[in-house]
Amino acid sequence: MFLGMGIYNPPFDGMEQAQAEMVESMFGDMGVTGKDAAKTPKVIIDEMFESPELRTLMYRLSVEFGVGIDTAGSAGMMLTALPWMIGCWRLAKGGTHTLAKAMTQACYAHGVDLIENTEVERIIVEDGRAVGVVARGTEFRATKCVVTNADPKQTLLQHVGEEHLPAQWVRRAKNFRFGPSHVLATPMYCLYEAPDYSSARWDPDINKTHYTVVGYDTPEECIRYIRDAYSGIIPEPAAGTWVNSLWDPSQAPPVGTRPPAGTSSPAPARCPRRSGPRSAPPTTTGSSSGGSSSRRT
Ligand SMILES: Cc1cc2nc3c(=O)[nH]c(=O)nc-3n(C[C@H](O)[C@H](O)[C@H](O)COP(=O)(O)OP(=O)(O)OC[C@H]3O[C@@H](n4cnc5c(N)ncnc54)[C@H](O)[C@@H]3O)c2cc1C
Repeated sequence: MFLGMGIYNPPFDGMEQAQAEMVESMFGDMGVTGKDAAKTPKVIIDEMFESPELRTLMYRLSVEFGVGIDTAGSAGMMLTALPWMIGCWRLAKGGTHTLAKAMTQACYAHGVDLIENTEVERIIVEDGRAVGVVARGTEFRATKCVVTNADPKQTLLQHVGEEHLPAQWVRRAKNFRFGPSHVLATPMYCLYEAPDYSSARWDPDINKTHYTVVGYDTPEECIRYIRDAYSGIIPEPAAGTWVNSLWDPSQAPPVGTRPPAGTSSPAPARCPRRSGPRSAPPTTTGSSSGGSSSRRT
């Protein structure tokens, strides 16, 4: 319910007040007040969580789910959304493209015409209303409305055009910038076997974990990483690591196949341990990980 309210509804007047009341009703017995919703996620996490492991997890999840760790007013979002999202990761079986495909099929089932690989050049505006688009020189008139998911800068400045916008919207569109983001890149590896973390000697279950944070020893290091990335500084290496094929083996390459050398695979993959002798790998970036097999990208 809380997620639905926050994610699927446009902002409304009095939203902050409603969120503050919700925060107080949910966490009041822990001493949290509605005013806490106005804090930054970092501040409220530090106030509520003592354990360094939980702090690190909450910092990481906050930025993963798009709540800037130092953004004032976002503690309410952190408190009403994050605790319910931990451990609720979902994976599109077969890879993310299956989701797009399912959506496409659902569109066809409802009689939608899809035109692919066609760049929209302009949104046609008449009497202050968007009434169609021009794509590859062809006009498409809308019967009800024009909906776009192109980014705001492109939509407003390029497609609609400054001449159709009030000066304030032109200024806002020009000043729009993506971020802050802590994601610099997402490498995907095609592995012959599941990771074998050195910390598995303390808890073997770590090797079966879908999402693992590696590279930070303390919450402070995690915060440093996030703030460096927000500020455009390349942080010390660390990452959140997903091993999707632990949960969806259909993404793993068949035993004996090789990933393309020197390229990133679109999906991290796990392959059962080989029993027979192995031929030379195309690229080797990992070291021997115990037993007879080595890890490769
Ligand atoms: C590296 C990375 C990892 C992510 N991981 C996850 C994840 O694990 N889970 C999750 O939920 N979210 C994830 N996200 C976020 C998620 O992918 C985005 O939030 C989501 O795709 C946004 O959807 P959208 O439809 O708004 O925009 P987009 O997916 O960007 O779609 C916009 C589309 O419009 C097209 N387009 C743009 N301009 C034009 C034009 N002029 N004419 C015609 N077409 C045009 C683009 O080609 C694109 O296909 C990730 C994002 C990134 C970048």
